[in-house]
Amino acid sequence: MKAFLKRHVLWAGFLAVLVPLTVMLVLQYRWLVELQTKSAIAHEATLKNYLEAVATKSEYHYKELATAALNLPAWMFIENRLDKAAYHFDKFMKKGPLGVKRFFVLSFVREDHGKALVYEPSIPAMEPPASAAEQRAIYVAAAPWWMLSEKRDVVETEALSVDERDPENRLIIHPVLDAESRVVGLAGLILDHRFFRDRLLPKVIDKSMPYFFSEADQKNLRVVVRGAKRDKLEEKFEAERAMAFVFRDYRIGLSSKDMNPKDWAQANFVLNMGLSAAIAVVLLGGVALALRTASREMKLSQMKNDFVSNVSHELRTPLASIRVFGEFLRLGRVTDPAKVSEYGEYIETESRRLTGLVNNILDFAKIESGRKTYRFESADLTDVVCETLKTFEVRLRHSGFEIRFDQPERPLPKVWLDADAIGQAVSNLLDNAVKYSGSARAIDVAVGQDNGYVMVSVKDQGIGISRDEQTKIFERFHRVSTGLVHDVKGSGLGLSIVNHIVQAHKGAVTVDSEPGRGSRFAIRLPVEETAGA
Ligand code: ADP
Repeated sequence: MKAFLKRHVLWAGFLAVLVPLTVMLVLQYRWLVELQTKSAIAHEATLKNYLEAVATKSEYHYKELATAALNLPAWMFIENRLDKAAYHFDKFMKKGPLGVKRFFVLSFVREDHGKALVYEPSIPAMEPPASAAEQRAIYVAAAPWWMLSEKRDVVETEALSVDERDPENRLIIHPVLDAESRVVGLAGLILDHRFFRDRLLPKVIDKSMPYFFSEADQKNLRVVVRGAKRDKLEEKFEAERAMAFVFRDYRIGLSSKDMNPKDWAQANFVLNMGLSAAIAVVLLGGVALALRTASREMKLSQMKNDFVSNVSHELRTPLASIRVFGEFLRLGRVTDPAKVSEYGEYIETESRRLTGLVNNILDFAKIESGRKTYRFESADLTDVVCETLKTFEVRLRHSGFEIRFDQPERPLPKVWLDADAIGQAVSNLLDNAVKYSGSARAIDVAVGQDNGYVMVSVKDQGIGISRDEQTKIFERFHRVSTGLVHDVKGSGLGLSIVNHIVQAHKGAVTVDSEPGRGSRFAIRLPVEETAGA
């Protein structure tokens, strides 16, 4: 478990951020959705309540008025004293404008059967109606009551009834009943629709507002009144309703001038979710970046550890041989001149190898700190390669390697190069070819020209490199950690130094390899640029 955690600590860290973040986002999403629906519902309910309040207030006004004003005693009709009604109506008229155009009475008692009398405030007295339209409206509305009175039916209620068939002359009628609950006449009023439209309704609309909406909301609210017969506004309102009791063909609609709370909720939802998502993305990006850096650092530190152990090993082996051969020579145990020369050669090659290794490490340090400098000169690549091969000769001969060197027939064009650096690069390639040859003993070195470049290639028939690894082997400290390579010691710096040197020459190093069949590394240096530089 511990080992598992240690290996996957970065993933665990990532999950530790990802999981709570996802939970938080999901919860926030749900809250926001809930908030959005709830605020939309609340908004709709407020609008509806407001409209209902407006309708109820208007209804209340007319019902109260009609109940008080039309409450005439039955004896006025029975005793034919309808002139008295004038005093009754006069009291109401004096109260100020109430939205009544005309008060009227209509008696079903024999003597003046079915004759309407309207209250004439200027006299004041009850007079026959002067307007034909008003008269017609009264008779049309009175007809059913007349029939009831004719039949002498008993009427259950004294309730007010409304007739709005003529929109200019809307009536409220109150049946007057005798002691036996029979209709003896009607008291009614004709409504002043202008008063309703221009005074009552606007007043009710304004006065109800503060009970339902804040000041800001009031400013944003648009109230539209439609008298059904006239304004055919084909508009979609957030809420609308018809008036109650009278003026039932009037509708009030509500809509918001700019954004309504539903839109606000929606916009808020989008904004909130967007912000959260952006923050989540940035956070995850940051965490991923931090984890990547940490992972790289961990890998690098692992590689450095390997590097130290590999280099120590590489240093120890040649040093041990040098010490043993040196001791032999010092103690005079070997006297045969051929043997002495052979041991001397060993010491020389091993020290060369050590020098190469130390050079690599020093170079790497310089490259890393940006202190590596080059001394460019115009030179022939073939000469540099020949020189390098010479230093390898003894070692190769001893280990039984056969080197084929393929030189061009015509001399190569000179290129602008640092002979030491290129020599070191070629030497690193040769060193690898020897190290990773396995049981194969053939190495092909070729120098040539290729499309504006001079090129040196080193080809072995060794263990090869898998396609995956081919891109990574040029990274510092990287060593292939599977297969045969395990047994071969190295610092993991060789190819990264080759790559750096070649890039400093504006050239390129490529690898062409197949596991088990060998590798071919090629360095190309541009002819014109380097030569002309
Ligand atoms: P080192 O040889 O010191 O390990 P290098 O940077 O020279 O470091 O090489 C990196 C890795 O590339 C080696 O560890 C080895 O796995 C692989 N490699 C390099 N050259 C060859 C080659 N000629 N054949 C097979 N593998 C090679």
